[in-house]
Amino acid sequence: MNILLLGSGGRESAFAWKMSQSEQCSKLFIAPGNGGTAAYGKNVNLNPNDFAAIKTFVLTEKIELVVVGPEEPLVNGIHDFFLADDKLAGIPVIGPKKEGAILEGSKDFSKEFMARHNIPHPGSKSFTKDTLAAGLAYLENHSLPVVLKADGLAAGKGVLICETAADAKAELTLMLSEGKFGNAGAIVVIEEFLTGIELSVFVLTDGDNYVILPEAKDYKRIGQGDTGLNTGGMGSVSPVPFADEKFLKEVENSIIIPTINGLKKDKIDYTGFIFFGLFKVGDKPMIIEYNCRMGDPETQSVIPRIENDLVELFIAASKKQLKDVQLKISPKSAATVVIVAGGYPGDYEKGKAMTGIDNIRKSLAFHAGTIAEGGIIKSNGGRVLAVTSLQDNMFEALQSATADAARIYFDGKYFREDIGFDLM
Ligand code: ATP
Repeated sequence: MNILLLGSGGRESAFAWKMSQSEQCSKLFIAPGNGGTAAYGKNVNLNPNDFAAIKTFVLTEKIELVVVGPEEPLVNGIHDFFLADDKLAGIPVIGPKKEGAILEGSKDFSKEFMARHNIPHPGSKSFTKDTLAAGLAYLENHSLPVVLKADGLAAGKGVLICETAADAKAELTLMLSEGKFGNAGAIVVIEEFLTGIELSVFVLTDGDNYVILPEAKDYKRIGQGDTGLNTGGMGSVSPVPFADEKFLKEVENSIIIPTINGLKKDKIDYTGFIFFGLFKVGDKPMIIEYNCRMGDPETQSVIPRIENDLVELFIAASKKQLKDVQLKISPKSAATVVIVAGGYPGDYEKGKAMTGIDNIRKSLAFHAGTIAEGGIIKSNGGRVLAVTSLQDNMFEALQSATADAARIYFDGKYFREDIGFDLM
């Protein structure tokens, strides 16, 4: 079948790499893709948020399956757009409709969903411009630190952890009256701070059934030892050593099953990935967020551990046949090290020619912010490449991914050399 994959990051590179291995895949198009995805299919210069242009392309190329990588087209209703159009309605889309994507698109909605379905989460309360005074009073007696979250999508920047009530009040005022984060901050969720270790769990669901994908842990900060500014993600590992069988069973029983049942009770028909952002507090899981898509760079560590045909999994999800699927997960360990451009996560440099990608020995190089120009790969984004190694044990995977990241060169390049070593 002809497949269209939307997105351009390392996550989509990992999807494209895996989908291109499927016997079900005749032609794979990646829109817009990056400097590496052309190795797995054909890059198409389309904006994933330009639904009219996507429609024309899908009909011209006789696309039979659409896989949506990032959240924005989902939150903007790409799945609904397909369903509402006679010519597109029969083409399966992997990724939820707007009514499901709102789990990520509105933190206020997702908190209410968690509360309504008794899913363990940190206590929270939401405020708007009209209730700013009540919000400031609420902060007066709140435990510290306290977490402030812009309700809408803010490219991973809408979460603030405030150490003092004065700081929290100033930030709340900036968000609600001064429009810091724009419309995304029109509602602010004030949330209890959790102390624990973070990890991510993912499912693919057809709305009735689900398969649990390998769990992962990502590393968000720019500096070694997880210090400095937040980024889109500097690396990831899978499996997660502190998530043992008992803990993962607890995640399934207290978080995954109530979420799937909650969606059904709320009559939200959901096809696609659910990403559960979790904290392990003591030995119990709590959820801090839902995403309606896979994570980046978690996908780069998760996908190589899935032994099933990914296209077959997507077809089963679209036909509501996931209950017949037995997921085969490799016992090997995967580690991903992200190489970023000089200056990232601030203003960063682009257009730097790259060498050494062919010299890596024991890893896969998933391109993210790259572009191919006249046969040369150049940097074209903040997060440039994700180097993933799958090995018999975590130590070897970490060593190989880190050593291979060092074999790639471009001016200003940077990567963390400590990804995953805290878990050893
Ligand atoms: P992203 O999509 O990039 O994961 P986001 O903007 O959707 O992030 P969250 O994942 O909810 O926001 O929060 C970002 C980070 O802030 C978390 O990864 C976590 O480290 C920290 N954080 C969020 N909520 C809490 C909390 N209640 N207690 C402690 N830390 C928190």
